[in-house]
Amino acid sequence: MFESAKGHVQATLDEIREAGLWKTERVITTKQAASIGVEGRDGRVLNFCANNYLGLANDGRLVQAAKDALDRWGNGLSSVRFICGTQSAHKALEAKIAQFMGTEASILYAAAFDANGGLFETLLGKEDAVISDALNHASIIDGIRLCKAERHRFLHMDMADLESKLQATQDKRMRLISTDGIYSMDGDVAPLREICDLADQYDAMVHIDECHATGFFGPTGRGTHEHLGVQDRIDIVTSTLGKALGGASGGFTAARQEIVDLLRQRSRPYLFSNTVAPAIVGSSIACLDLLSENSDLVKELQGKTMRFREGMTAAGFDIRPGVHPIVPVMLGDARLATGMADDLLVEGIYVIGFSFPVVPRGQARIRVQVSAAHSEGDIDACIAAFTKVGRAHGVLS
Ligand SMILES: *Cc1c(COP(=O)(O)O)cnc(C)c1O
Repeated sequence: MFESAKGHVQATLDEIREAGLWKTERVITTKQAASIGVEGRDGRVLNFCANNYLGLANDGRLVQAAKDALDRWGNGLSSVRFICGTQSAHKALEAKIAQFMGTEASILYAAAFDANGGLFETLLGKEDAVISDALNHASIIDGIRLCKAERHRFLHMDMADLESKLQATQDKRMRLISTDGIYSMDGDVAPLREICDLADQYDAMVHIDECHATGFFGPTGRGTHEHLGVQDRIDIVTSTLGKALGGASGGFTAARQEIVDLLRQRSRPYLFSNTVAPAIVGSSIACLDLLSENSDLVKELQGKTMRFREGMTAAGFDIRPGVHPIVPVMLGDARLATGMADDLLVEGIYVIGFSFPVVPRGQARIRVQVSAAHSEGDIDACIAAFTKVGRAHGVLS
């Protein structure tokens, strides 16, 4: 009987609406791309809010590889990996991921959310401790909730606080420091050099979540650890196939052999969830082959990111400094952020305003995400639209 429950569910829905936290989903009428159609608006808009950093979500070579994999390997396995769900394609992809990431091994998951969900509980027991950045992704927080290790949280990117947590856990058997490589609301880069130094000093392992870095960040797109020159000092990387690497879905953990071996034996989202579909496996292999050949796309994205960052700064906007294609345009007021985003859509620029509780109160912003698929003309059109709308809202004089 739903009758008695209905009132409670409805009350929660009403609360969400009243708090201004209701999320509506804008419906896209085309493929994911730099320029897309959206329901309720004629013509195309320039898309500056996808995680399609390399523009590969709709790449012809990847789509063809997915079709080839469908033909060769079928639609799916109807099985988890360890029963009858492992094809040679899955093993090939895992080997390619390990090679690309420079780790000994890797293991596939249905999503990066699951890779994080199945990491901590498998690796750590009650004799151990996990020390996690306060602003880590929800999937890390949930993964840690499931594990029996002692849990510590350090202030966001605060190395003194991390050190104090390492000092407080010296009696533990194993310790794992966990951090996002890139923070998605700010484009902030985690201080991995300092984190690895502390990990060495206090004999702790380091885990990074590279969803907003894998494939495009760092000189050859290997990620935040490559960007900071600590690639060989990271013990565990979790990341996604659903952002830069073709935009479909799926995730992985790339790590030392023993850790991957243990995950394959014990990690619950791996053991009890269906194997990644062959089409995605095929396109992901094609994607990694493409990115292993050269770093042209990575460099293109870096150039366009700097073009946007420099243009917005010259126009007078307050953007968070940095080098990542996530570019937060800081506005402060929540209504200003959503109002400007609405007006930008009228101008043909699709961006989203973020406000509390997604970001701290008083730090509302529009988050722009640059893609290698944007032309220089697209970037300039975005800056021009921001300038026009910014003037109309009194953000620029
Ligand atoms: C997107 C994201 C995830 C989830 O990735 P999925 O593969 O979509 O589950 C996990 N962690 C971070 C930091 C992310 O940005």
